[in-house]
Amino acid sequence: MPSVAATPIEGKTKLLTALDNTENQMQVVFKDAATAFNAKKKAEFPGKGALNAKISALLFTLLEKNGIETCFVAMGEEANTLIYDALTMIPLEVVVRNKAQGSLVKRFGLQENQPLTPPVVEYFLKTPDDPPITDALMLQMGVVQSERQIELMRQKSFLINDILLAFFESCGIDCVDFKLEFGMNASGHLILGDELSPDNFRLRDKTTGQVLDKDVFRLDLGDLLATYQALYDRLAASPEDLPEISNGTASHSGYEIVSQKQAYTAEIRVESRKGILNPESKTISENIQFMGFDSVVSVNAGKQFTVHIVASSYTEAYNEAKIIAAEILSNPVIEDYTLKLTALGDVNA
Ligand code: 5GP
Repeated sequence: MPSVAATPIEGKTKLLTALDNTENQMQVVFKDAATAFNAKKKAEFPGKGALNAKISALLFTLLEKNGIETCFVAMGEEANTLIYDALTMIPLEVVVRNKAQGSLVKRFGLQENQPLTPPVVEYFLKTPDDPPITDALMLQMGVVQSERQIELMRQKSFLINDILLAFFESCGIDCVDFKLEFGMNASGHLILGDELSPDNFRLRDKTTGQVLDKDVFRLDLGDLLATYQALYDRLAASPEDLPEISNGTASHSGYEIVSQKQAYTAEIRVESRKGILNPESKTISENIQFMGFDSVVSVNAGKQFTVHIVASSYTEAYNEAKIIAAEILSNPVIEDYTLKLTALGDVNA
């Protein structure tokens, strides 16, 4: 075991220490503390740290098996400890929602449990008040490096959601929403970091509606430790048995999930890149000005495509549309494209 080196970083629920090894890894101790409402409510639950470490390890392993790069390296020597690859974290909380609950209901007055199709991805700035933040502000404030990084985070979040939804579904659990955090590794890859514990999720029993996450503590609904233990027991399968889920269908026989095909419309708009002279745009612009419309400064002529897609998930449809837009409908040397994907509903509904 490599020795522990530099000054630890202590958060509300985790203690991170750089390991003195050549692999640039961290030891992460999951604390027994539970906090809610910006740490105004706090309590200790001996054993919670170990359960959160085990559940996180299990879900990170599930994602890794399904092609998502995560920070998780191994369980540590202590039950409440994991080893992570060190990442430069992006100071954002990325929340993925499949149904309206919590702050979404409070902020927008949506009906509680209203299904969200496609799922909603929201960004919050990691500060004491966690305010919602837009793409433009993330770029303006230097929270992210590029629009591409935001797009990658969004795509990865959809993909992670597909995998987690299918897995929880196979365990009889409704995954309402969850919070993710991403970071960059030394090679500049966007990697999933933080933790995947019931502290970050809203999970409900599909049949009884029983709350299986930190809402038990937030709303005083019962015994938090017993809830987390029961959740772990439900999810626990040895990592070898964790299913590979692709296109919404788990290949492991114990996790057979019926995939529901959905219809989507991809609206793809292709335009010349800024600074590239498009003769069609130039002619139209000159004609408009010739007709006396002096207020028109420039025109960018483009092409608009509507592509109808049937796929098993929003992510699958989105990824296909992106390839079609980037590789077939546009010329990446001289053109840019925008893509808007809308889910139309079940094919057989
Ligand atoms: P909401 O925005 O409705 O409060 O939370 C949405 C989801 O993100 C919930 O599953 C919640 O547990 C998670 N979440 C949001 N903010 C935080 C946070 O600061 N810490 C943790 N652990 N989870 C959060």
